Amino acid sequence: MIELQQAPQTIRDNQAWTDIGMRTKNPVRATRKKHMIEIWQALQIIRANRPRNRVATLPLLEALGRRLAEDIVAPEPSPRYTNSAMDGFAVRWEDVATVAEGNPITLLLTGESQAGIPFSGNCLCGQAIRISTGAMLPKGMDTVIRVEDTKIENNRVTVLQVRKKGQDIRKAGEEFTTGDVLLNKGTALQAPQLGLLTSVGIMEVAVYYPPHISLVVTGTELAAPGEAVAPHQIRDSNSTMITAAVRQAGGEVIARNYTGDTQEDTVAAIRKSISKAGIIIITGGVSMGEHDHVKEAARECGFNELFWRVKQKPGKPLFFARRDDCLLFGLPGNPVSGFMCFMYYIQPLLRSLQGREFSWRKAKARFDQSIKNSGDRTNFMRIGVRKEESGFIIAEVLEKQGSHMLGSIAKADGFIMMEPGQFLTEGSWKDVYLFPWRM
Ligand code: AMP
Ligand code: MG
Repeated sequence: MIELQQAPQTIRDNQAWTDIGMRTKNPVRATRKKHMIEIWQALQIIRANRPRNRVATLPLLEALGRRLAEDIVAPEPSPRYTNSAMDGFAVRWEDVATVAEGNPITLLLTGESQAGIPFSGNCLCGQAIRISTGAMLPKGMDTVIRVEDTKIENNRVTVLQVRKKGQDIRKAGEEFTTGDVLLNKGTALQAPQLGLLTSVGIMEVAVYYPPHISLVVTGTELAAPGEAVAPHQIRDSNSTMITAAVRQAGGEVIARNYTGDTQEDTVAAIRKSISKAGIIIITGGVSMGEHDHVKEAARECGFNELFWRVKQKPGKPLFFARRDDCLLFGLPGNPVSGFMCFMYYIQPLLRSLQGREFSWRKAKARFDQSIKNSGDRTNFMRIGVRKEESGFIIAEVLEKQGSHMLGSIAKADGFIMMEPGQFLTEGSWKDVYLFPWRM
């Protein structure tokens, strides 16, 4: 039911946009006109300016949960040597073949191959070698008889039952051989993958490393979390929420700077962030107000504006810029707006920097209410979902959708995108975007 939806790959009919990758000197940019761009255009520009993946070679246990940045090729075969799959006796098929016709055969027990202590002698006709599970098959033997299918008296083993030549043997290289691809690039390393790597002697691997994010929180009205809050102040909730969302998307916030609403302070905060991280996320200060300085400050710091203002609600003032390999996202200060922009644009980007698709978690859900977007921008509406016994997902648009109302987002399981003028009748099915941590 749940699928991952990829962002559109192709640009539609707008010639002003060119898909040029990050490694060229010429980043994709929006037209200079300060009109609102479409959501698909914003996605296209972000994807085209995707930074390079960071890759690190880590010891296996430190690589747990990360994704491989390389194919892993088997340096040796598995099993490494032919061995027994059972506790029993190694024999030559020629000696026991007639047992299949109901004639038990008695062989002379002449030695033992133990796990870790192989049998080093010669094997002759009419002999059996005691063998334990995983022990090396002695040269000359080709079949194993389980203990259960034998009778032992002194140094004689009577074979009561056989199935076929080569039974209960694990052949060298039967699982994989040297040079086979064991794990593909992009595979998430969980316990079994780490086990497999260890089994072939690989102790460290190249994995995608968490993108580093520098957070800048703007707003003269803000009191930092935990500080006393004056009557004219509001608590900064964005820093905690965005830091957590970054972490849940596999990234790491490595620096956090606060700035008041002046051009000078905003420039200083951006400057401090540039060298530290490949991605700067700024909250607040990107709207039309007299005290919104982020765009100008970014320009002063050498960033090229790639877009500003997207035809969506909430999150219209979203700002995106780039300086060399450093990306800068200006999120609106309203907590819900900033969060929705993060989930829709930045979260898939962070995923894609860790060897995954630039995509969202999506599902089809039924709405037992009619829904309308009478506005002229795409509306990201927060929804709650539940699973019916049948397995179908039922969704409802939550109340109190104001972009300053964190309560609605705290209750939400995800969101839907309603296009301008779109009307959904009761009982309709629609794609829903699920927050990765819900359901
Ligand atoms: P701005 O985008 O700077 O105009 O801010 C829009 C609204 O979001 C204002 O009501 C701000 O007080 C509020 N706001 C800005 N930054 C934060 C923050 N870090 N935490 C909570 N609310 C914020
Ligand atoms: Mg502000």
